Amino acid sequence: MLAIRATGTAVGVNNALAQQEPWRCQTQAEEKSGVLPIKGTKGPITRDIGWRPVGSAGEVIPKNYDDARSTFRASTALVKRVHPNAETGQIEVPSKTDNDLTIDWLYVPPTVECKNLVIISSGIHGPEGFVGSAAQQVFLRETFPTLDLKETGVLLVHGINPWGYRHHRRVTENNVDLNRNFLLDESQFAAKPNPGYEKIQRYGRVKRPVRGVFGAVWRMIMATVVSLLSLGSKNAAGTAIGGGQYRDPKALFFGGNKYEPQSQAVGELIRKRTADFDNVLLLDVHTGVGEKNKLHMMTGMNRQSSNAADRPSRAAMEELLNDGEVAGKHIWNEPTDDDAYRTYGDFIDYVAQMVPKTSRVIPITMEFGTRGDSMGQLLYAGTLAQLENRGFHEGYGKGRRGRKLQREVPEKYMQMFLPKDPAWRESMLGHCRYVFEDVVKNRFCGLVAG
Ligand SMILES: [Zn+2]
Repeated sequence: MLAIRATGTAVGVNNALAQQEPWRCQTQAEEKSGVLPIKGTKGPITRDIGWRPVGSAGEVIPKNYDDARSTFRASTALVKRVHPNAETGQIEVPSKTDNDLTIDWLYVPPTVECKNLVIISSGIHGPEGFVGSAAQQVFLRETFPTLDLKETGVLLVHGINPWGYRHHRRVTENNVDLNRNFLLDESQFAAKPNPGYEKIQRYGRVKRPVRGVFGAVWRMIMATVVSLLSLGSKNAAGTAIGGGQYRDPKALFFGGNKYEPQSQAVGELIRKRTADFDNVLLLDVHTGVGEKNKLHMMTGMNRQSSNAADRPSRAAMEELLNDGEVAGKHIWNEPTDDDAYRTYGDFIDYVAQMVPKTSRVIPITMEFGTRGDSMGQLLYAGTLAQLENRGFHEGYGKGRRGRKLQREVPEKYMQMFLPKDPAWRESMLGHCRYVFEDVVKNRFCGLVAG
């Protein structure tokens, strides 16, 4: 079963809101913990716990899920040594095949007033967790010790899809893409969103072992051409293919028939912790999509809203992201019209609607591009994803060719999310530093203070 050790039991997200006991943000000052920052120091860490700036990306990119989790736990234990009111917790994720899968988290309350909350989450797509864990380490070791925590709290959520992280699969053990599973209300699963998927469904899954690549390339081309012709734009075609589907549990981008336990538990954790804050910044770390070596800051669908309650967030997003885009520090991808490429059940949209309307919320997907977004690259990525998924469910053909594919497909698939190229890895480190120092510390904390 699923349990949140530190905060009680996990329950359904939306339906059960009314029955939840209220969680209140308590500052350390209120709790008289005696760990207020020492006068004259800027951050919460007032004694040396041995942290040094990260020397190279290799220091923070973990070997595997278990290694990543050990590092996260060790780091958060150190935070608790200097910050006794910090909380850590583990959400156990049930599995038919694996023991000991957990989503780990750290929450550090502000010291004086609950105004701003910075959330950094990782590993909602398994193999993207490697960079997600690395980013969280960069934040903890370099930015966190100098962050002014008087009015700012921190919530780190590590490895939201631990099974996929351990097995190098983007999806959960149930083949569910968690970033298509966060529909705003559980009743929406039955409505099977993404009508465009109907147009290309027949080019999707093949129920035979993988024996070659040509068929998969051909089906990707057909899916692209058919969706382009019938839906009329590249964005609409992209949504049909990759926006999430709720029909075939063994095909790509399956959003599920109900919330996965991970979604419920993480949703509940975030709903509780955001309740009392005026400003919430969510950075959900991903890799794969987009231009190589570039960081894409992607803001969610609901930010198009003309709802007055959203406008302060829009202004805040401009202050956070515009200058960085002008300076070439990142690419700001924002859906601008109804025809934009969209995904259903996106985590950041879910968080945005969960935060109270009186709060300002800035939900951002941080996507580290690994290959490029030309038609050729999209075709490559789509084909490889098809082959990996089919190989997992149907196996590979016999003989030397089958064995070669069995070895190469998962390896190449993994490299779409974690390239071996040392230059890519160092650029990832640079992007992390820029976001945590400039966007989080200087802008988000400065912005909301002013
Ligand atoms: Zn992702």
